[in-house]
This record gives sequence, structure tokens and C-alpha cells, in this order.
Amino acid sequence: MPLNNDISLADYHIHPDFSIDAVGSVDDHCQAALKKGLAEICFTTHYDSNPNGPAEERMMVVDGVRAPLTFDAVAKYVETVQKANDLYYPIGLEVRCGIEVGYYAGCEKLIGELFSRFEFHYKLAAIHDIEDICVCCHTRFEKCFSRFRVDEMADRYFATMEKAVQSGLFDAVAHIDVYKKYGLQFYGDAILHIHQGRIEPVFEAMVENDVGIEINTSALRKGHAEYYPSMEIINLARKIGVRIAAIGSDAHSPEDVAFDFENAAAIAYELFPYCDE
Ligand SMILES: [Zn+2]
Ligand SMILES: [Zn+2]
Repeated sequence: MPLNNDISLADYHIHPDFSIDAVGSVDDHCQAALKKGLAEICFTTHYDSNPNGPAEERMMVVDGVRAPLTFDAVAKYVETVQKANDLYYPIGLEVRCGIEVGYYAGCEKLIGELFSRFEFHYKLAAIHDIEDICVCCHTRFEKCFSRFRVDEMADRYFATMEKAVQSGLFDAVAHIDVYKKYGLQFYGDAILHIHQGRIEPVFEAMVENDVGIEINTSALRKGHAEYYPSMEIINLARKIGVRIAAIGSDAHSPEDVAFDFENAAAIAYELFPYCDE
């Protein structure tokens, strides 16, 4: 069913099947976006290049085959998205090419090279690893969390995020409280408050570096009551002056494009100003 078309919504976090954990081609996702009545989408395939992480993660799927995460593989992705824009823009859907970089300390040189080779419309920084183990993968979160108390985990997570923001490479931060994805079941309710006193310096750095925050609706699909981030964190971001960069479904399949956007758009009201001219 199409969304309310009084406002033109854009989904700025979509994984086509170039991402190893996604299904549905670029074209399938564009078709889904058209059906939902979106005006614009931005693909954000994964670029997880941590050399200390599992080798099977440093991959991209090109022409249906898993390939190492080389710049040539990225070029195929960029080309495919550009071709989709050529096809869909004339019929009302702008198709942008972005990327979701899994940030780790030390990646700056490589990511700097990536960004000078390709002109991405939207560069998302995500913290997927804490000390080289995935914090948000269902097969590895226990291994990740079992090394730390909840406060130790959060100290490390936010310190890494602050480095990502300070790098000056990125436009926005993805799913800023994603540690709650499996952290709620692992640590209990303490996880929902663990940002307090830790996220503020990150927000101040975001204001300084003009890095925005995304509202990511995928948390609802994982059984959470609130998005990434929670309303408490969104309100704190606004209070400190962090801008909302976009809303994103973090779709990994076409049916999740624009997931829960009716509600997310109301929260991110500044992105969709009504015009009475
Ligand atoms: Zn992510
Ligand atoms: Zn994502």
C-alpha cells in the first residue's frame, strides 16, 4: 500500500543484494520504492573492511557471486545504482548511491581512498565491531559482550563512534544505539540508559563536524519498542543541535523498504517541511 503522498519520503538506508546479508536486486528495491510512493531512495551497501574481523565479512556480492571487497567490486555497485537512476528518475524515483562503512580505528586511510575514488551521495558510519567482534550479529554478539560489563562495552562503543565522527569522513552516523539490538537480552534494561553521559561528547563532535544522525526503523523488526535511536536519544540530539540527516529502513529485502515510515516521518518532521506557498 502506498504511503501518504502529501509528503515526499526518502529512504536513505537500503541494502541491495550486493550486501552479503541482503536479498533482492537494486531493481527489485526500486520497484518496491515506487510501489510505496517514495520520491527518493539511497542505497547504502556494506563496506566492512576490518582486517581483524572474519574474512567472510569482507566481501561483496557481484553478479551473484561473493567477491572480495575490492574497489573494482565497489565500482560494479556504483555503476548498477547509477543505471537504476537513469531508468527510474524519469518516472519519479531518484536513486542515489551511498555506502555504509563499518568504522574501526585505523580505517581512515582506506576509507579516504575509497571516498576519493567514488563520489557517494551519502556516507554512513556504523560501529559494527567492538574490539574486532561484531556487536550486532546474531552469531557473534555473545562473544563480543561476554568480554565486558555493560558500562565497559558502552565506553568502547562510544569512544569508537567519536573517532568515526572526528575523522571528518562521514555525513551521518547509522543506528547510533545498535548495541541494544542484542544487548537488551544480554545485559537487561541497563542497556537502555547506558548512553547517558557517554553520547553527549559524541553529539558535540557531530555538531562540530556537521555529522547528522539517522532515524533507523529496523529496530522495530528486531522486536524493540523504539527505533535506533530511542526517542530519549533523538530528543537529546536535538537539544545539543545534532541534525537529523535522514530516515532509513535498513532494508535487507524489498518488502522492508520504507518500513514504518508513516510514523518515522512524523518524528523526523524537519526533513519533510510542508510548504504553503
Ligand atoms: Zn549497520
Ligand atoms: Zn545497514
